[in-house]
Amino acid sequence: MQNTVPASFKPSGALIPEQPTEAWRSMTTGDVSTTPINELLNTLGVRIVEVEPGDLATDGIAGYFSGRVGDGEIQIERTLPQADRESVVRELLARITPTDQQYSKKATTPARLRPAKVREGRIYIECPAWCTKDHVYDGETALIDVYHSGDPVDLMVPHLGEDAQPLVHVRLNADTFATDVPLQAPMLVVDDETDTFHMSPEQGLKFADDLIAFAEQVRAMATRIAR
Ligand SMILES: [Zn+2]
Repeated sequence: MQNTVPASFKPSGALIPEQPTEAWRSMTTGDVSTTPINELLNTLGVRIVEVEPGDLATDGIAGYFSGRVGDGEIQIERTLPQADRESVVRELLARITPTDQQYSKKATTPARLRPAKVREGRIYIECPAWCTKDHVYDGETALIDVYHSGDPVDLMVPHLGEDAQPLVHVRLNADTFATDVPLQAPMLVVDDETDTFHMSPEQGLKFADDLIAFAEQVRAMATRIAR
């Protein structure tokens, strides 16, 4: 029978089997999940390559493997949290064989990455599901000026004999890249056309309750004079 295991020569000239393939053959699924990750990578001859944020996420994948036992490469994004990194790498290693192949691990919750224009460059930023801002059209000169914004709800006020006028707008906002840390979190923003007010979710709920009470009093007034 022909020996298909790749081989190399010792300086003495004796034939030795390639170590990673031998190690892989004696490895069980349990070994792949319990061996310390760096040891596992060394044993199987696989290196980690960090790629730019968005390079993989735009294709909905968390990690990409190419190669074979003894000569493999796993690509992960530089910003992949350490907590997620190990499970992605182990899952990819569990499928490795001595034959060259490429496969990927799908991202469980793919980030919503959208393009943004900063100065004259195009970057990709993680955008909340509620953000409807066109970050390319509304290009900014600096990253700290990029912010997320949702569609507003508007309150119109009637005016006898005239067209209704906008009185107040409320929308979601997050100044994710701002230096003012409290404003980085998602907030409700009230805009009365002269000033803006930022509200936490808790303040927003209280404000909504106050609006309902306010509306009840307006209704009572209108009812009182209605004919
Ligand atoms: Zn956005």
